[in-house]
Amino acid sequence: MAVYQVVTMPHEILRNKALPIKSINSGTLRLLDNMRDTLYAFDGVGLAAPQIGVSKRIIVIDIGDNLIELINPEIISREGEQTGSEGCLSVPEVVGLVTRNNLVTVKGLNREGQEVVYEAEKLLARVFQHEIDHLDGILFIDRASETNTESPHRRNKS
Ligand code: ZN
Repeated sequence: MAVYQVVTMPHEILRNKALPIKSINSGTLRLLDNMRDTLYAFDGVGLAAPQIGVSKRIIVIDIGDNLIELINPEIISREGEQTGSEGCLSVPEVVGLVTRNNLVTVKGLNREGQEVVYEAEKLLARVFQHEIDHLDGILFIDRASETNTESPHRRNKS
């Protein structure tokens, strides 16, 4: 088990466009394992590789039911709207109200290199959009209609 440190604002890697994975090798699998360990160690609902200082297009998500690992994720369709509160492990002690799509279809590769497609709604759709934004250097505070500081306590972040 390896838990990474989560990089926080204003680290510039959070603003870079992450690079696609060209081939899945043992380093990619180790990175996925360590991202999972880091996600759970910080009690997050999602984590993107740039948040641990690796500018690659990989995300892990677990909103409480099962772990999703996705390489080169891409939103291929979006529908509807939802507005809700978000926080981010890379933007400590800030919460914001963000409007996002309510339904998204996301495609990418699993750790075996097979193409997988997720149809997500509500919270899962929100976390997919939040994480994929990280791969493009976008933070939730860029999209938030209002932000507030929040005292640190247990909560879901991504
Ligand atoms: Zn985040």
